[in-house]
Amino acid sequence: MAKEYLNFIDGKWCAADTGEWFENRNPADWDEVVGLFPKSAKTDVDRAVKAARAAYREWRLVPAPERGAILKRAGDIMVERKEELARNMTREMGKVLTETRGDVQEGIDTFYYAAVEGRRLFSHTAPSEMRNKMNLSFRMPIGVAGLITPWNFPMAIPCWKSLPALVCGNSVVFKPASDTPLTATTLVEILLEAGIPPGVINIVHGGGGAVGTAIVEHPDIDLISFTGSSMVGRQINSKAGAQLKRVSLELGGKNAQIVMDDGDLDLALEGVLWGAFGTTGQRCTATSRLILHEAIHDRFVDMLLKAIEGLTVGDGLLPENTVGPLINKGQVEVVHGYVEIGKSEGAKLMCGGHQLTDGDHARGWFYAPTVFTGVTPGMRIFKEEIFGPVLSVVKVRDFDEAVKVHNDCIYGLSSSIYTRDVNNAMRAVRDLEAGITYVNGPTIGAECHMPFGGVKETGNGHREGGWPVYEFYSEIKTVYIDFSGRLQRAQIDNY
Ligand code: NAD
Repeated sequence: MAKEYLNFIDGKWCAADTGEWFENRNPADWDEVVGLFPKSAKTDVDRAVKAARAAYREWRLVPAPERGAILKRAGDIMVERKEELARNMTREMGKVLTETRGDVQEGIDTFYYAAVEGRRLFSHTAPSEMRNKMNLSFRMPIGVAGLITPWNFPMAIPCWKSLPALVCGNSVVFKPASDTPLTATTLVEILLEAGIPPGVINIVHGGGGAVGTAIVEHPDIDLISFTGSSMVGRQINSKAGAQLKRVSLELGGKNAQIVMDDGDLDLALEGVLWGAFGTTGQRCTATSRLILHEAIHDRFVDMLLKAIEGLTVGDGLLPENTVGPLINKGQVEVVHGYVEIGKSEGAKLMCGGHQLTDGDHARGWFYAPTVFTGVTPGMRIFKEEIFGPVLSVVKVRDFDEAVKVHNDCIYGLSSSIYTRDVNNAMRAVRDLEAGITYVNGPTIGAECHMPFGGVKETGNGHREGGWPVYEFYSEIKTVYIDFSGRLQRAQIDNY
């Protein structure tokens, strides 16, 4: 019998009110049940929100540097547990160990960054227009934060959200993806061990329909931070928006790498292999479009196909494998459905295009790295997010066409250009419609102290990471202090 894990609500580890459980299975070996997790309901969320509201009243008064010190301790604990966390993450969601170690490291970096922000939380002061008067502003916490996360970065994304929320003085109700509940549970354990008071952090496991909806609709949750698909993001925005909640949405992507005729092709090749097939293409920043200058198109496609033969798809725990499985059966069906669409649209399938079921692949959701050439910008495989190891290649005449093709997209998360022409590099920085542009680097590789997020349908204008996320989790209080000893009427007495 697999181990039963629990919710953490109001300072206690507890089962769901339903008494039901869901399984967390290893996508590389579906016979392995990683654990059983509570299938929670609205009533569990109600208790978590009540506890978070009560705990908020005291937590908001803890000095921010003291809150930061707890996060520093938690970061230290995570350093100690890094390897264990990475291995468990690979077991529950499949990506190879090098990548899950990186995911945990992003969590550690975010802990240390948040700890230091506890000593800053800057806001603005400005001179008063009156004599003997002072104008200041402060960052105040907002209240209870509802956090809903996807499965593809099981540690990094929950850390990106919960740590700034906590250091700003909010309490948290957290619902992780039901494909990666173990990593999320360990994050809460670490926060508690480091000294986060009970009630300040609550984790409620379960599905999006039951638990996610209950969080979004709960009238006593003040803000929602969601990362996931654009479809769910839209629903959340309209529900939470109707209650005038603050909402941060980080949604889908359809990121492109451009390779110009003057680019370093070996470097660009390394970049596209990592960008398109790292995390089996299941990153919001994954390279799923490759825009090649016509002068290097054929040569680069040859190089790419040859390099793909060197990728080894298999269990991410084994060091010889470079690409892990897809997350679940549903995702295999989505990816394969798009491959069929690509074929029917007239794109040329150059490699892959099928599930791997032989030998060691027999009990996992493995899919062969797939490349389509002859793709045109109007094709669905070039426009829609696939979230799998499928790369669509478009040929362009020049830089201007590359930018046009790149921007003809509803999403705008990450972008990349390989060129040695500094003028084109600078134009790309200016003109590519995306929240992130890499010059001579792949579309993936965020650093926690830099803003992360996208334009267009990738989100609603907020950013994770960097300073802007601290603005999302805090409210500005403006303070005027008049030490003149008389009534001073602004805009009247001084004119
Ligand atoms: P998803 O939208 O299916 O689920 C995300 C989370 O929302 C899960 O915890 C899920 O249980 C919950 N959820 C589902 N329905 C809900 C509802 N009606 N109300 C409230 N919560 C609900 O996404 P996913 O499959 O977990 O993740 C893949 C998607 O996430 C991709 O589209 C990817 O691009 C996107 N993503 C974006 C970023 C980014 O920063 N832009 C980062 C990672 C992933």
